[in-house]
Amino acid sequence: MEITELTAAALGKKIKAGELTAEDAVRASYEKIRRLEPVLHSFITIDEENALSQAKAVQHKIESKELTGPLAGVPVAVKDNLCTEGMRTTCGSNMLKQFEPCYSATAVERLKEAGMIVLGKTNMDEFAMGSTTETSYFGATHNPWNLAHVPGGSSGGSCAAVASGECFCALGSDTGGSIRQPSAFCGVTGLKPTYGTVSRYGLIAYASSLDQIGPVAKDVTDCAMLLEVIAAYDSKDSTSIPREHYDFIRALQEDAAHLRVGIPVNYFYKGLDPEIKKAVLEAGELLGKKGAFVEEFQLGLTDYAISSYYVIASAEASSNLARFDGVKYGYRAKEGETLSEMYRKTRAQGFGSEVKRRIMLGSFVLSSGYYDAYYLKALQARALIKQEFDRVFASYDVILSPAAPTVAPKLGESLKDPMQMYLSDIYTVSANLAGLPGISLPWKQNAKGLPIGVQLLGDCFQEKKILQAAYVLEQSRNRSKD
Ligand code: GLN
Repeated sequence: MEITELTAAALGKKIKAGELTAEDAVRASYEKIRRLEPVLHSFITIDEENALSQAKAVQHKIESKELTGPLAGVPVAVKDNLCTEGMRTTCGSNMLKQFEPCYSATAVERLKEAGMIVLGKTNMDEFAMGSTTETSYFGATHNPWNLAHVPGGSSGGSCAAVASGECFCALGSDTGGSIRQPSAFCGVTGLKPTYGTVSRYGLIAYASSLDQIGPVAKDVTDCAMLLEVIAAYDSKDSTSIPREHYDFIRALQEDAAHLRVGIPVNYFYKGLDPEIKKAVLEAGELLGKKGAFVEEFQLGLTDYAISSYYVIASAEASSNLARFDGVKYGYRAKEGETLSEMYRKTRAQGFGSEVKRRIMLGSFVLSSGYYDAYYLKALQARALIKQEFDRVFASYDVILSPAAPTVAPKLGESLKDPMQMYLSDIYTVSANLAGLPGISLPWKQNAKGLPIGVQLLGDCFQEKKILQAAYVLEQSRNRSKD
């Protein structure tokens, strides 16, 4: 077996046992990166020398038993909206094309403390706005399963890099589905934690009340391990929540006997690909066979999720992105006689059209004449959506649903109709509005060989339940392949 085919957990074990070194792992990853990047374009920035020097230092610490964690020596990729000291952090934008942060995000610091090696920064939709990784200033990422298709977005670079073996695992961010949807499109496992679980310090904000960093991995075990590395209370993030337990790996038990699973069938809209619907129902049946209590139910208020999400996300984005004015960070337009002209030209040239669309929409819904009609209404709908989930989670431990209504679309198809693209986020945005954890795992392939993922949502702080259900599904899926 090639080194790059190992899971992060298996690689970590081999490094610990002295069968491989951290340097071997980095070299193997870079060999793959050099071979695949010309066609995939998962990365915006790579730095082999830096990765090798990190590997040397880590290897030394592993040998001296200073580093003993299960992922020490494992190469990881990081989405390019997470600040990395000394390594450029572009957010997929012309605005930050040359931006080199003077500090690293807490999540990145925690990777390093665990002895993980940052290989580089992955491609993404500009400022994480999009569902295809096509709005990146640096060009689109391609889906490793079929290069004519998108990898999903906005963490498409991270998911394509994990799916292709360019890295062993990666960090992504999820504001409205950006970890779960590209994970489904690329056949990898991605988890969005409960809001407040992973520090957002050093994550360049899109919509602060929805953003959450999470793991993208080859399987459920790696996903739980990486979550255990990055999840922690952080006083630098005022929305960080101290949790009682962070032992996510313990949830990995093949036991569904006490799980109550709800399938929201009214949520299976007309636009849902029948093959995906079938896959979700099959996954439900399997959980039932494994002893879970499985039942169909009606989830209320789903009609309001997309509109509330796009109003709130755009409102917050318009405010967060006000800081990019040519003075404080990154790009500044050369022409411009007056200060306001410089602002205007900088923003006109620095941002791409999807970002401008969101800023305009956000400014509009926050403007005095429309605040009550749109922004406030969206906040009210959000509160009701949260209440609806509270009601549902009194009866179920996990909700089983699709991660996306379709498999990965072809490159160039989605951006033609942004409204249609927004609607395709229907299965993911509610979790962000309510702060819930969600995991997307590969279930099968469609007739054309593209991956189909299923999603499991849990109540706040119940990551272990969704990890356990995901683990049960994964183990049976793997056995059925043998
Ligand atoms: N597709 C959604 C959007 O464009 C979600 C993005 C995300 O989660 N970062 O807003």
